[in-house]
Amino acid sequence: MPRGSGKRKEEEEEEEEEEEAEGRLEAALRAARRAAAPSVREFRYNKKRVRLVSRGPELLEDAKCILYWMSRDQRVQDNWAFLYAQRLALKQELPLRVCFCLVPKFLGATIRHYGFMLRGLQEVSKECTELNIPFHLLLGYAKDVLPPFVVQQGVGGLVTDFCPLRVPRQWVEDVRERLPEDVPFVQVDAHNIVPCWVTSPKQEYSARTIRGKIHSQLPEFLTEFPPVIRHPHPPSCPAEPIAWDACYSSLQVDRSVAEVEWATPGTSAGLAVLQSFIAERLKSFSSHRNDPNKAALSNLSPWFHFGQVSTQRAILEVQKHRRAHKESVDAFVEEAVVRRELADNFCYYNENYDSLQGAYDWAQTTLRLHAKDKRPFLYELQQLEQAATHDPLWNAAQLQMVREGKMHGFLRMYWAKKILEWTRSPEEALQFAIYLNDRYELDGRDPNGYVGCLWSICGIHDQGWKERDVFGKIRYMNYSGCKRKFDVDQFERRYAPRELAQ
Ligand SMILES: Cc1cc2nc3c(=O)[nH]c(=O)nc-3n(C[C@H](O)[C@H](O)[C@H](O)COP(=O)(O)OP(=O)(O)OC[C@H]3O[C@@H](n4cnc5c(N)ncnc54)[C@H](O)[C@@H]3O)c2cc1C
Repeated sequence: MPRGSGKRKEEEEEEEEEEEAEGRLEAALRAARRAAAPSVREFRYNKKRVRLVSRGPELLEDAKCILYWMSRDQRVQDNWAFLYAQRLALKQELPLRVCFCLVPKFLGATIRHYGFMLRGLQEVSKECTELNIPFHLLLGYAKDVLPPFVVQQGVGGLVTDFCPLRVPRQWVEDVRERLPEDVPFVQVDAHNIVPCWVTSPKQEYSARTIRGKIHSQLPEFLTEFPPVIRHPHPPSCPAEPIAWDACYSSLQVDRSVAEVEWATPGTSAGLAVLQSFIAERLKSFSSHRNDPNKAALSNLSPWFHFGQVSTQRAILEVQKHRRAHKESVDAFVEEAVVRRELADNFCYYNENYDSLQGAYDWAQTTLRLHAKDKRPFLYELQQLEQAATHDPLWNAAQLQMVREGKMHGFLRMYWAKKILEWTRSPEEALQFAIYLNDRYELDGRDPNGYVGCLWSICGIHDQGWKERDVFGKIRYMNYSGCKRKFDVDQFERRYAPRELAQ
């Protein structure tokens, strides 16, 4: 047998196994959803997930459909906003439509992000069509394209999902102002397990203060999802066909940051990553998640960020393995629920979530006191971007992010703290860190990212530590500390600059 064909067979077998695993999880999920509730109709929907954006009459007399304006949560199943919209439509015996407003630019997103998002939406569109729910891709800002669409389609109720960041919040506000007055408009937090506004009415100080508030409400909110069902009320007219390829090539975004190969966009691929995490990496999550050379993380952040996989789904599945891997499961819940929802809490209640003014007084004071301290090295943004510092570990972390669109979580802290040490001021450090994070990380432009940068540079959700130059009382990290934790040389070799790697 020729050598090549043997390899191909192995690869084929591997692919078949992967597909089987993926199929198994999807089949298990379908069964779980069926068992949870026979239909969204009979399901008791927890209304605390929903809040009014603007009130219209209970029922619009001559409504022709209900519309879900999908934004942060780009998936069909395991989506409380989608489920709420379908429930409304079923109660009123109306067709259900879904739309997504594709904006030409968003906070410096590149083709790496737009490509991932569009391919995920393509899957959403297909799934919607199979469920008799037209999916509309509206090109432009919601304030310009959504109100006319609502009028044109005779929308009798509008449902959207929730994001605490200022630009998407402004989109919701703009639509509210321009929507016909008689159309009720509601918002569902489909991203957090405990809705952001239910967890706490104020900015929480730290994980310590929010943890109990989240855990005490999990029994109420961490429940199985009913399925979004094939919609029984057909639309009067289908959605316009979407020219995905043309749409992709017409995007006016920066194409110099390439899409990544390791992460296949879309819900099915995301669920396969969840499956592989549970089968292969969960067992070592508690012991090895701070070792950048080990495969112990879930890698789910890109799918979580784009809402292609629901964190609630991930937790429901991971928790089934608590007897075998108690510490890892608890550690995963801490990261994916407590830390993640703490980040949403911070961005929701602190309008300065991406600037030094958002930090606590003690942190602003200590950073100001040390603003004039001599920096050991000073780098311009371009030098940082090109991974041209004196520190091979920092450069390797930067290159991992540039090449793969995902820096290891432990190194993100070291990376951001060194930017504080090597730039002219904490303001500049924060600006550079957020710029690089949002440009290259596939999961960038996320509350987790702003909080991660503010935690590292401005001590948010942290406490004061021993005072030292530049950092003041902000927690410090250094190269020798990393050397004690993991094989730094191995990581540096893996992400060496290309010419050195030859
Ligand atoms: C400077 C800096 C920048 C960061 N930028 C981002 C970002 O842009 N987007 C982003 O999603 N996360 C960011 N994080 C948080 C964290 O590093 C990533 O969520 C994590 O590395 C993603 O990989 P994973 O999904 O394999 O994580 P896992 O360790 O498998 O964790 C599972 C999930 O838990 C959540 N999570 C894990 N760690 C944190 C944390 N520290 N804070 C909040 N939620 C967490 C994430 O949703 C993650 O997907 C940043 C952290 C720092 C220090």
